[in-house]
Amino acid sequence: MPEHQKTAIISVYDKTGLLDLAKGLTENNVRMLASGGTAQFIRESGFPVDDISSITHAPEMLGGRVKTLHPAIHGGILARDIESDEEDLRAQNIDKVDFVICNLYPFKETVGKIGVTMDEAVEEIDIGGVTLIRAAAKNHIRVTILSDPEDYAVFLQELYENKTGEISMELRNKLALKAFEHTAEYDSVISDFFRKQYSEDVAQLTLRYGCNPHQKPAQAFISDQDELPFKVLCGVPGYINLLDAFNSWPLVKELSASLNLPAAASFKHVSPAGVAVGLPLTEIEKQIYFVNDIENLSPLACAYARARGADRMSSFGDFIALSNRVDISTAQIIAKEVSDGVVAPGYEPEALEILRKKKNGKYCILQIDPNYVPAPIETRQVFGISLQQKRNDAIINKSSFKEIVSQNRDLTDQAIIDLTVATLALKYTQSNSVCYAKNGMAIGLGAGQQSRIHCTRLAGDKADNWWLRQHPIVLGFKWAKGVKRPEKSNAIDLFVTNQIPEDGPEKDEYESKFEELPTPLTKEERKEWLSKLNNVSLSSDAFFPFPDNVYRAVRSGVKYIAAPTGSMMDKSVLAAADSFDVVYVENPIRLFHH
Ligand code: 5GP
Repeated sequence: MPEHQKTAIISVYDKTGLLDLAKGLTENNVRMLASGGTAQFIRESGFPVDDISSITHAPEMLGGRVKTLHPAIHGGILARDIESDEEDLRAQNIDKVDFVICNLYPFKETVGKIGVTMDEAVEEIDIGGVTLIRAAAKNHIRVTILSDPEDYAVFLQELYENKTGEISMELRNKLALKAFEHTAEYDSVISDFFRKQYSEDVAQLTLRYGCNPHQKPAQAFISDQDELPFKVLCGVPGYINLLDAFNSWPLVKELSASLNLPAAASFKHVSPAGVAVGLPLTEIEKQIYFVNDIENLSPLACAYARARGADRMSSFGDFIALSNRVDISTAQIIAKEVSDGVVAPGYEPEALEILRKKKNGKYCILQIDPNYVPAPIETRQVFGISLQQKRNDAIINKSSFKEIVSQNRDLTDQAIIDLTVATLALKYTQSNSVCYAKNGMAIGLGAGQQSRIHCTRLAGDKADNWWLRQHPIVLGFKWAKGVKRPEKSNAIDLFVTNQIPEDGPEKDEYESKFEELPTPLTKEERKEWLSKLNNVSLSSDAFFPFPDNVYRAVRSGVKYIAAPTGSMMDKSVLAAADSFDVVYVENPIRLFHH
C-alpha cells in the first residue's frame, strides 16, 4: 500500500461507467470525494465516498452554481511537488488530489432543443467542472484527469497493474490533451450559442443552406473579431456567394494594388470566369462586351466590362468583385446582366439604387471592409478533419516576372500587365489552372482540370472564342427583334465554337435569334482569323510537365509565358518555347488553390 492515500475528486454529469470506476478506486484504496449528485449515486451503490463539503467546509450553494470552486479543491489539484507548494498546503491543511474525474453539463444538447430559453442555456454552462478539468490537465505532471467515461477502463487497468496508485506519464499526457480538447470544444459551443443570440448579422450570419439546399444548418461567422468584415446591403448571400466573395475580393484588391488600376472579377463556382483591370475599351471591345450603349465608362466600368465580357457564357449569373467604390456606369453594366451578387468596398448612392432594383430587390450586395486583413493561419474542415495552413500571401506584381529563362528576353510592359492579371487570377482559381491574358484581362481561363494540358486546351479554346467573337461576321450579326442578351451570347457561342445546330428544334431555336442568318465561317476563314491573334500572355499555376502545353498555347497567339519550373521535362518545354521565340519567365511561386 502506498504511503499517502491517493485522492480522487469526482464530479460527473454523465454517470456512465461510474460504478465500475468507484469499485476500482475503492479496491485500490483511493479516497473518493464527490459533488452532490455524484456522491449520492456512489453512496447508494454501497461504495465509501465523502462529500466535497467535508473538505471545503462550505455547502454547495446558489442552486449548484458553486460546488467545487474552493481552494481546498483547487489547491489540492494544482499543487506541485515543490517545497513552497507543500508548505502552502500544510498551512491551509489541504491534501493533494491525485485523480480528477469530471464531465460537463450537456450545454450542447440543451441548446439543441427546440424552444430552449436563455435561462435554461445559461444554467447549463458548467463552471466548476471546466475549472476542475483545466486545473487537473494543467497539473498533469502529477494529476490524472478523466474527462470521458470511455477512458475509465484503461485508467483502472493501470491502477490495478501498478498497485502503487501511480498512473503512467504517457496516459496522463494523453488524458490531459483530451481534457484540453474537451474544454475548448465546450467553450466553442457556448460562444457559438451566444454569437447567434447577441451578434446575429454582426459577427454571425445565418445562411439558408450550405452548398446545397439539403445542407442545413449553415452559417458564416468570425470568432477573433467583433464583426464580420462585410455588410449585407441588399439580398441574402448564400454559402457559395460568400465563397465567391472571399476569393474574388482579395483577387481584385491585390490586382488593383499591383497594377495601380481599378480591377474587377466575375466569379462562378469559386473560380474567375473573367478578371481584368480598367484599361480603356476600343469600339469593337465595347460591342463584344455588350456595353456600347453605356456612356462615360469609368475605368472601373471598363474593368468589369472586360471581366464580364471575356467569357459571357461562363459569367452568366456571376458573383462580381470590384476593387473600387462602385460608380453609376459600372452599376449600369451590372444592371443589364444576369448576376447573383457583388462585393465592393463602397457604392455611390445612385449606383446602389440601380443595383438594389436588380432581381426584384433581392440582388446580393456586399460591402467589404477594404482594410480587413485575415489571420495568417487559416483552418477548414474536410470530412471532419481540420486542415490548417498559412494563408497564401504571396505577392504577385510586376517584379514577379524578372526571371526570364528563354532566348527571347523582350518582355513588353503590356505583357507584364497581362502576366500579372493572369498569374493573380490563378492564385484564386481552382487548380489545375491556366490563364491566357491580353489587353489587361483574362481572355481564357481553364480551371479545375486534373490534367494540365486539358487546362491549357480549355483556356486556349476560350481565348480563341474571345477572338472569334471579334470577327467582322460576328460583329455584323443581325439579330431578330427582342432577342435577349444571354440568348445572343449563346448563339454567338454556337457560331464561334462551330457548333451551329444542323437540324431539329435546336436549329429552329438558333435560327429564330437572327433577322438574317449568318453564314458559318469556313475552316480557312477561321484559321486565317485565329492566326491574327497575337501577343497573348499565359500563366500556369504549376510547371508544364510536357511541351505539348507550349505547342497548344502558341496556336492561340501566346508570346509570353510565366510558369514555375521543376518538371523533368523543363528543358524540352523551354526548347519548345524557344523554337517559337516565346518569352518564358520562371515564376518561382507555385499557385495551387483549392
Ligand atoms: P453532481 O451531479 O455531482 O451534483 O454535479 C456534477 C456536475 O457538476 C458535473 O458536470 C461538474 O462538471 C459540475 N460541477 C462541479 N463543480 C461545479 C461548480 O462549482 N459549479 C458548477 N456550476 N458546476 C460544477
